Amino acid sequence: MHTSTPTSIEQIEARLAELEPESRRLDPGPAARASLREPVVRYMEEFLDGLPAAPTYVEAPELADGIARLPIQDAPRSMPELVDAVAEHVDTAGLNPASGGHVAYIPGGGLFPAALADYMAAISNRYSGLFYPAPGAVRIENQLVRWMCDLVGYPARARGDLTSGGSIANLTAVVTAREAVGIRARDVERCVLYGTDQLHHCVAKAVRIAGLSEMQSRAVPMDDGYRMDTDALERMIRDDVEAGLRPFMVVSSAGTTDAGAVDPLERIHDIAHEVGAWSHVDAAYGGFFLLADEVRDSLVALGGADSIVLDPHKGLFLPYGSGAVLVKEGAALREAHVYRAPYLRDVPEDGDWFSPADHSPELSRHFRGLRMWLPLQVFGLAPFRAALSEKIWLARYFYERVQEIPGIEVGPYPELSVVMFRFVPESGTDVDQANRELARAIHDDGRVFLSSTEIDGIVWLRVAVLHFRTRKRTIDLTLDVIRRALSTAGLAGT
Ligand SMILES: *Cc1c(COP(=O)(O)O)cnc(C)c1O
Repeated sequence: MHTSTPTSIEQIEARLAELEPESRRLDPGPAARASLREPVVRYMEEFLDGLPAAPTYVEAPELADGIARLPIQDAPRSMPELVDAVAEHVDTAGLNPASGGHVAYIPGGGLFPAALADYMAAISNRYSGLFYPAPGAVRIENQLVRWMCDLVGYPARARGDLTSGGSIANLTAVVTAREAVGIRARDVERCVLYGTDQLHHCVAKAVRIAGLSEMQSRAVPMDDGYRMDTDALERMIRDDVEAGLRPFMVVSSAGTTDAGAVDPLERIHDIAHEVGAWSHVDAAYGGFFLLADEVRDSLVALGGADSIVLDPHKGLFLPYGSGAVLVKEGAALREAHVYRAPYLRDVPEDGDWFSPADHSPELSRHFRGLRMWLPLQVFGLAPFRAALSEKIWLARYFYERVQEIPGIEVGPYPELSVVMFRFVPESGTDVDQANRELARAIHDDGRVFLSSTEIDGIVWLRVAVLHFRTRKRTIDLTLDVIRRALSTAGLAGT
């Protein structure tokens, strides 16, 4: 009956009157909003207060099974019941990324004002993809892009985009390079990409998604600090050019995920540019250490890159969902992504601003700039600088202290805030197996969470200090957890 025609105006009005009360429930009034909000705010306050005593890792995936008992249904459920479900089934099992004890992989953040910004952005829901519907939101995002461009030393013509993370930012950079260099389908097989085995896997993923998987790729050897060997890079490029191939892109890292190594950026840019290749730096982990005087010098050459990826949800301690790509020739980013559609005819060309949608695969999107802008403004830059310097000193502290544990051997001195270490038993035992057992025992303890990796066939454990809640006492706790794990795993005398 609802779809049949013709319908009288009275029938339409009757149907609307019938639907409105139920539909209205989606737009609660002040009292209903308060009763929705209060359990959430109360729980998050308890969550924050409980963090110092909370475990960082809990291996109990069965705790999440309760979600299955809450299927999506026609009838509503109460907010307190749902907040309890999140507390019991989501915020219990697995890794707690809000904990300062998260020293695995590359830690994320979760600054409190960023959550408040998300609250504002989700309610006002400004349409941040385009300037004319949301000039203020776009000004905020442009200002953040400009601030990052200034930080890396990019010129005024540079542009960028706030993405959901480093992977999408790297994809955007690869697509921009493909278009800017002018790679066509028939060229792909003859193109070559250069990077070390320490490149983040999302670069290979980006290459495939960008339709470039038939391109050749070269694993450039590394020095003993896991940095790109630029003499080897130069030789490989020369050989490829002689063989009639086309060096397309050199991807280097400013802070590798495993070892925190910074490739020799300046030399790499020179080598790439000499043959017309695009020099891209994945600085998702390390880029914001430009704010720390201790290591700034090793990162200043970032500005020589054609494109750069930064991850504000790492180095600026934001919650997950905040990456960034910067492109020196901003027009290249735009040309690779801009489209016009009949229903976007009212969209003006850029002024002293630029629309995110013209520089990204996205159109409608979260106004993600606000969660970066608000913390930077409300705290100012000084505490960010201090926190990033603190992370460097904590890594150095760990590097010294962990060597006091009998049998522990360390990797290279931390360039940024990652320390690799492993346990080398006196004799007879399989070293890699011993380190897997040590990692297991640390996970079982759960007070802190660290991860292991394998480089050149050797198993290493690693501590990556980047969480804004990681303090000296967290590192002391980490050392204690390692000592205990060695003894519970039966690897060291108690
Ligand atoms: C984290 C990381 C990435 C991937 O970024 P996501 O934000 O997880 O998508 C890429 N490169 C490096 C060096 C990283 O540390």
